[in-house]
Amino acid sequence: MKKFLVFLLCSVLPLAAQSKPAADLIIHHAKVWTVDKAHPEAEAVAVLGDRIVAVGSNAEVDAWRGPKTHVIDAGGKLLLPGFNDAHVHFIDGGASLDSVHLNDATSPQEFARRVGEQAKKLGKGQWVLGGEWDETKWTPPSLPTKEVIDRLTPDTPVFVTRYDGHESLANSVVLRLAGITAQTPDPPGGVIVRDKQGNPTGVVKDAAQDLVARVVPPPTHEQLLQIVLRAMQHAASLGVTSVQHMNPDYEDIAAYSELRERGELITRIYAAPLITQVDDQVKIGVRHAFGDSYLRIGAVKAYADGSLGSRTAYFFEPFSDEPGNRGILSDEMHPVSLMHDRMMRADAAGLQICTHAIGDAGISAILDIYADIERVHGPADRRWRIEHAQHMAAKDFDRFAQLQVIASVQPYHAIDDGRWAEARIGHDRASRTYAFRTFLDHHVRLAFGTDWNVAPLNPMLGLYAAVTRATLDGKNPNGWFPEQKLTIQEAIEAYTMGSAYAEFQDKEKGSITPGKLADMVILSDDLFSIDPVKIRDVKVLKTFVGGKIVYQAGDAH
Ligand SMILES: [Zn+2]
Repeated sequence: MKKFLVFLLCSVLPLAAQSKPAADLIIHHAKVWTVDKAHPEAEAVAVLGDRIVAVGSNAEVDAWRGPKTHVIDAGGKLLLPGFNDAHVHFIDGGASLDSVHLNDATSPQEFARRVGEQAKKLGKGQWVLGGEWDETKWTPPSLPTKEVIDRLTPDTPVFVTRYDGHESLANSVVLRLAGITAQTPDPPGGVIVRDKQGNPTGVVKDAAQDLVARVVPPPTHEQLLQIVLRAMQHAASLGVTSVQHMNPDYEDIAAYSELRERGELITRIYAAPLITQVDDQVKIGVRHAFGDSYLRIGAVKAYADGSLGSRTAYFFEPFSDEPGNRGILSDEMHPVSLMHDRMMRADAAGLQICTHAIGDAGISAILDIYADIERVHGPADRRWRIEHAQHMAAKDFDRFAQLQVIASVQPYHAIDDGRWAEARIGHDRASRTYAFRTFLDHHVRLAFGTDWNVAPLNPMLGLYAAVTRATLDGKNPNGWFPEQKLTIQEAIEAYTMGSAYAEFQDKEKGSITPGKLADMVILSDDLFSIDPVKIRDVKVLKTFVGGKIVYQAGDAH
């Protein structure tokens, strides 16, 4: 009996060795940049199931070819890990894709025509929202009025917003629904624009927009599913294979969850609800990065302060163009002990903390709390994040590094805000704005993202911004504070491994490494050899998530 068993093993083993499973997918003749420091470059990749099994030369990877292997010849194009956007508002972004586009409407007639078309497209009773109109592009510029659109939208509620978010136009249907009449007083912090007779013209400013916002119905579950599907298509077309959704509603997570169950998620999602709801996640007992490869929770998003644009970012010194104002802490920080307590509870429960902080004093106040948590709870792998980390105090770079805080930054903001930031905060503070190089010099990890829909989701714009720092107005072709520029290698790493690390997934994705998820992108041009100015024009040819093609150029997206 024993002899027979030995014989059997001897005959079976060589057979088993020969029948190594064949790859489902091989991509060869590619210029592979792996973002894996051990093996940065390769020619080919083999995928089995949803994982990468081999990375190497064409010949090495060809050993994985079987009769059923799908082989893609990349024609020498650049193959990178899929991009991971560390900071998005995925539902707002998805909703904006199909909303009416009014920004480049250059006359009231064109404005009205587009609103009317959208109303027809949506059908009776559906709200026309979004818009991003800009009346300064009209000749002569004048605020729109409800009369411009009423005739075309007798039954359709219309509430379209100026590009800066500070003013919106409502049609008569909406004014009725919101109960706004000549008798309605202006709310504190808001203005209802009126004609000579005192009747509302339809435009509401700042806090007066809330009078309308509260009657806008939230999207239904069915609508949310459609918005997510649309957002994911858009992401796939840009090579974005993972996103980290900051402050989602629970309804958004329910939509992701349903699509996950249906097998329809083609973007991997990490969702970080507001810290004001921290006790919900504490109660359930989930810890950081809880979930599967497609959907995770276990982080909380906090707000320390406001923004530079609205002069609400919190600084040690006043704004250079507004003495007496140094910004404000958010309501979550009033008092600071409230934030401290919530963060202590989050940390005790093993939740990851991502905090929006823009002004130097806002960032500093959060570092104080992080340091105190470490003092009380002891060292741990927490991967604390500061979202935006926009204006650093010189004294805080070392502390940022010591606490191993991740700078979750959006390079596009640098070339956008860079147009006017120096006038607002002066040269010295501007020199530590979006200070990506200084962060790396201090061994602070960067995670790249966009803040979509505040900025476009396209990673090429982020890479372009980090590498050139050329402001959008064309006034700094050699870079705004050029000493803070990154190399293209560093920028790609921040957008892949950096973001993966920031969501505790650096062992699962972020580089083209055997064993990792097969999330990859083939690009139209070689980012390493083209003129950096052209990076923003580079297109995605194919996007793979878990080894499946989720986008190829020429598809109708
Ligand atoms: Zn954001």
